[in-house]
Amino acid sequence: MQERDHSGNKTKPLIVFAGRSNVGKSSTIRALTGIKVIVGKRPGSTRWEQFIDLGSVDLVDIPGFGYMSGQSKTAIEETKTMIVQKLERWSGRIVVSVLIIDISLFQELVMRWEERGEIPIDIEFYGFLSEISQNVIVVANKIDKLKTREVEEALRYLEFKLMEAEPDTEPVIIRTSAAKRKGVRELADMIESKLSDLGYDKPSW
Ligand code: GDP
Repeated sequence: MQERDHSGNKTKPLIVFAGRSNVGKSSTIRALTGIKVIVGKRPGSTRWEQFIDLGSVDLVDIPGFGYMSGQSKTAIEETKTMIVQKLERWSGRIVVSVLIIDISLFQELVMRWEERGEIPIDIEFYGFLSEISQNVIVVANKIDKLKTREVEEALRYLEFKLMEAEPDTEPVIIRTSAAKRKGVRELADMIESKLSDLGYDKPSW
């Protein structure tokens, strides 16, 4: 049975797609659903978030967070605040969160943030998503940009950092190359398996 939100609208369980700008979030959603999402970059714009009806669930694509060329620090902070507020508001509906990261840049970015004494934004979001949803899937995208021998090391580093952030949770990591359509089936299978554990039907991709 579908629930209704405070405005009386029918609400469905949500799968949230989040990630820094340029990590390949739109490419991943397109590879999964065939739908080209266009998300407005300005907080509050009408296309700020996009819902895709997948039958048993809705997929919601939220704007990329973090640095984007041409955006001021204030705009970046505003976007982050909006995302956090929206996610908190939806938290009762979110059944799976998918956090996309660019594995080819992850270690370098983490080190740069940590040198400044800051929590890397990917890690901060992982912690936040873990708080508001029971199932977080981390997508290590752009594996094609790494040499074969670099992939395992990069994934070990990612796993270590995720464990450090959430020591009580075994991280779920799917390696993909959205550009080369690799790992997309595995991602769909993982989402389906998480939904099935919660008693939801498969999405109609
Ligand atoms: P978004 O900003 O996170 O939605 O990222 P997009 O899907 O728009 O992708 C940003 C850029 O990264 C584009 O130039 C894509 O072609 C490229 N890209 C996305 N996925 C991959 C990938 O798996 N490998 C490589 N090499 N490039 C990718």
